[in-house]
Amino acid sequence: MNLKVGLGYDLHRLVPGRPLIIGGVKIPFELGCLAHSDGDVLVHSLIDALLGIKGEGDIGQKFPDSDPAYKDISSLELLRQVMQEIKEAGFSVVNVDSVVILEKPKLAPFIPEMKTSLCPILGIQPENLGIKAKTAEKLGEIGQSQAIACWTVALVGHTE
Ligand code: MG
Repeated sequence: MNLKVGLGYDLHRLVPGRPLIIGGVKIPFELGCLAHSDGDVLVHSLIDALLGIKGEGDIGQKFPDSDPAYKDISSLELLRQVMQEIKEAGFSVVNVDSVVILEKPKLAPFIPEMKTSLCPILGIQPENLGIKAKTAEKLGEIGQSQAIACWTVALVGHTE
């Protein structure tokens, strides 16, 4: 199997009056991500990792925030589009591993639901999707809950 790896990163400001959506799951919190779309930092970093596999640019080039079609769109819809293109290029996902960096709230209770939302789209089993949440130890913008960030690596295989 011909293997390729992609790396993605994303960061959003946290602001009042926005929902906090991570991994396709709405998480109860007083702050949410400022964004043109739903601001799903995990899915955005995952999309960037998948675009990297095909040597493409980032999510902002593919789905411009100047395009009203993407206003408040569920990032899962964008992920479905990108996965369709990955499949059409002959690739299937082997595994994905993500690290979400946020001070609060605790994400652990929501990770099973995130896997339920993402695994069918990625075409992988839950044991092939890693989602970890780390704090910034109260340091810097992330540590002060002014921002949330996420790193993701994705491995895909080509069957030819
Ligand atoms: Mg983003």
